[in-house]
Amino acid sequence: MKENYQMIMEKEISRLSENEKPALLLQCCCAPCSSAVLERLKEHFKLTLYFYNPNIFPESEYKKRLEQFDALISYHDFDNIKMIPSIYEPEKFENSIRGLENEREGGLRCEKCFALRLNETARKAKEIGADYFCTTLSVSPHKNAELLNKIGLEAAKEYGVKYLQSDFKKKEGYKRSTEISRKLGLYRQNYCGCKYSIWFDNKND
Ligand code: SF4
Repeated sequence: MKENYQMIMEKEISRLSENEKPALLLQCCCAPCSSAVLERLKEHFKLTLYFYNPNIFPESEYKKRLEQFDALISYHDFDNIKMIPSIYEPEKFENSIRGLENEREGGLRCEKCFALRLNETARKAKEIGADYFCTTLSVSPHKNAELLNKIGLEAAKEYGVKYLQSDFKKKEGYKRSTEISRKLGLYRQNYCGCKYSIWFDNKND
């Protein structure tokens, strides 16, 4: 039977104390996807954003996606959300997916890509003393929430930080992300991120 990760997240949130918000480090793939996730989580967690995406190609595209967060964070509802300075290390991505360059989107290359980003987020969460970590990636209809949650739970075990199981596309999360993005005039890319998604897939994130 398929897990309902939205329900699992709601149960986890219902167990939180009303008086104290736990700290959550959120790996953000891009500002449009992050918009609806921030809206969903900000009431329950002290959020710190982590734009850790060594998969993005070329560097100019990486900078363009990163710049969109200025508009998102200054959006009045999100103005107390912090962001960790970004690091771009494309060689780490290339090393982690070597031999899988020709995989279709959603295949083994993506699994490695998710693991790279989630493991680094778990490591960073531990470093800064966050209670939880999570990713915005599941808001996309193209991203497999089951796989993301499996990788997140493995990284949680490895680093000793809780992973917030989730599926942000549920409850019209993707639709909401397009609404906020339109309202803020955010740039929405037309490919997932890596050079292979431009060459072989070329579909929206
Ligand atoms: S298609 Fe997207 S998720 Fe898959 S490897 Fe490329 S950037 Fe990562």
